[in-house]
Amino acid sequence: MQIKPTELKTLKDFYALMAATRQARFNAVATILAGEEVSKDTIQSLNNALGSLEDVTEVNNKRVLYLDESRTIELEMDYEINETRKDLFYLEEGEETFLDLLADLHPGFDDYVAAGRELLGGLDLNCLITDRDGTINNYCARYLTSIQSIYNSVFLSRFCLNKVQKPVILTSAPLDGLIEISVNPEGKIYYAASKGRECLDLEGRTRRLPISADKQEAIDALNARLHDLLAQPENEKFSLIGSGLQFKFGQSTVARQDIGKSIPLAESDAFLATLKELTAELDPGAKNFRIEDTGLDVEIILTIDADDGLKDFDKGDGVKYLNTEFGLGLFRGPHLICGDTGSDVPILEAALEMTPDAYAIYVTENDDLAKRVTGLTPNALIVPEPDMLVTIMGLL
Ligand SMILES: [Mg+2]
Repeated sequence: MQIKPTELKTLKDFYALMAATRQARFNAVATILAGEEVSKDTIQSLNNALGSLEDVTEVNNKRVLYLDESRTIELEMDYEINETRKDLFYLEEGEETFLDLLADLHPGFDDYVAAGRELLGGLDLNCLITDRDGTINNYCARYLTSIQSIYNSVFLSRFCLNKVQKPVILTSAPLDGLIEISVNPEGKIYYAASKGRECLDLEGRTRRLPISADKQEAIDALNARLHDLLAQPENEKFSLIGSGLQFKFGQSTVARQDIGKSIPLAESDAFLATLKELTAELDPGAKNFRIEDTGLDVEIILTIDADDGLKDFDKGDGVKYLNTEFGLGLFRGPHLICGDTGSDVPILEAALEMTPDAYAIYVTENDDLAKRVTGLTPNALIVPEPDMLVTIMGLL
């Protein structure tokens, strides 16, 4: 079904349009991977979608949409617009010219891509374990409209299908919605969410790491209070920016800021303080929860029992669970591990605990993070852009 030119008035219109591009993109990726040509109809659909996005009223570099009949919200739509433009360029001009475009957009592109191809050239990998947002996907201001682009999926899928036995996308975002924003062929890639606590196998079945009854009760109580808190008119905006309010498995996330800095600094800090107070009130002994603040999102995470007391569940714990649940055979390399933040470092540590035969490509401009990664293994490369990482993958 073709996407028609639409006037986007409400936030809902915008979400509906982005969801429609997911179907068009999913079909296009399948077509390209089958070696066929994408139809003119699909290209027209994406052109219409782009036009609709570009036509949304712009004020101070933000796009303005209605929340309801009287209230408006200002949004950043860079991801949605830019990725659609890139996809159209990719479909119309072909891959080689598209790579020139990426090289124009990102300084040092060719050198980083060459370094990545050299690092991984000739390897047939057992596992790929990679984070999604900011690593293999460009950052978007909102999770649910961060529809994966066509070129991105083609590059990633080509790599996963030809060079990797067991590809795993491991995100801290919830499983709910992850498939709806991904356009990779189904049944080829494992999706693990909530830091690995819940995952989707290749048959599309959901699997979950069991949580004890008392911990589940604790997080249910927390979620009810968060729901009430965000329902207050002065707090409602926090559910509409960035990650919004997400109830994940074993973890809840509340946005206090987005990458467009929509919320005044003082207000964002005050909201963080409110969340800390609420958590302390529900868990006075700090037995059940840990709070992690990224500056944008506040993650409230259920603790787990570790050898030396309580700890918060990290992606390394997720990797160990996935290794058992999916039979990844992590003791046998080579593996490629990819991430873009400190919370992705435990993935590499967990992999290296099982075999030294692990390679790492991390996407960051943060020197401390780069040093942590390169300090763990000499087989590491740091690149500044997700587009570079997926191009490395696509060209191997
Ligand atoms: Mg990330």
